[in-house]
Amino acid sequence: SMASPALLMRVVASAYSVAEKAATIVRNVMAAGDLGIVEKTGANDLQTKADRLVQMSICASLARKFPKVTIIGEEDLPADEVTEELIEDGHCEEILKRTCPAQYTGIKEEELVIWVDPLDGTKEYTEGLLDHVTVLIGIAYGGKAIAGVINQPYYNYEAGADAVLGRTIWGVLGIGAFGFQLTEAPPGKHIIVTTRSHSSTLVNDCISALNPDSVIRVGGAGNKIIQLIEGKASAYVFASPGCKKWDTCAPEAILHAVGGKITDIHGNAFQYNKEVKHMNSAGVLAALRNYDYYASRIPNTVKQSLVP
Ligand code: AMP
Ligand code: MG
Ligand code: MG
Repeated sequence: SMASPALLMRVVASAYSVAEKAATIVRNVMAAGDLGIVEKTGANDLQTKADRLVQMSICASLARKFPKVTIIGEEDLPADEVTEELIEDGHCEEILKRTCPAQYTGIKEEELVIWVDPLDGTKEYTEGLLDHVTVLIGIAYGGKAIAGVINQPYYNYEAGADAVLGRTIWGVLGIGAFGFQLTEAPPGKHIIVTTRSHSSTLVNDCISALNPDSVIRVGGAGNKIIQLIEGKASAYVFASPGCKKWDTCAPEAILHAVGGKITDIHGNAFQYNKEVKHMNSAGVLAALRNYDYYASRIPNTVKQSLVP
């Protein structure tokens, strides 16, 4: 048709290019060698120059194109002028060509909330575990995560010089998710993926109660959802506060777009309206398949320790 693309598709198409620019910044800061590490709440809660520059780039770029959209980024930054070199104004033509699901065609800018984690897995970034790092742009409407972009700047970084470095995964509810090969985890095996740098007795007790065949400990909420959609793990279990709305919004949209499920440890859906509390106080439980199996085995003692 001759009609201009729906707002949602224009936002996702722009977020795709903005996330690719973000990935370039993440790689450039690391290559330059001065990470400018700042402790936020403590030694396991860090911010680097990459977190700061990428948030400025993403938020300023999207705000310029979509001035009435609410954009919430993880980092507290001074409201400085953003230099022009940080602005990305491109978009992904392929996404723009896709038909917007009917239930989203009437969305107005004022109704969208974009949750930005400029660099998820910062602790791992500072430790050189580079493929744990992702850039997360989640798009919410009516309190629900409906679309998202996950960029993995160091995808393939150990695959040799011929491999293309980095990738961008995107998804919209009702369309699907792209940029990766959807793969089921080994059937009949319970492979749990969880935190590597924010463990606790409760986190470990909850995993033990699920009687897993194996446990994968990696950084990043985005990275853990990638483990699920590529069949490396069967469930993401994190019985602790610590994860925030910008950690789960883009991953949730992509996981839900391919038929998976993510909730808190009680089974409650996350809310993404702009007034919501940022902390996911009652943890995270996610799976591509057999979510109910894991949900039914979370011990009551664990649930009682995590107040939503
Ligand atoms: P992780 O699985 O430990 O990489 O955590 C996933 C996301 O939640 C990352 O953005 C972490 O920074 C954040 N997170 C989880 N637990 C904590 C915590 N105790 N303090 C600060 N951030 C946390
Ligand atoms: Mg994060
Ligand atoms: Mg972050």
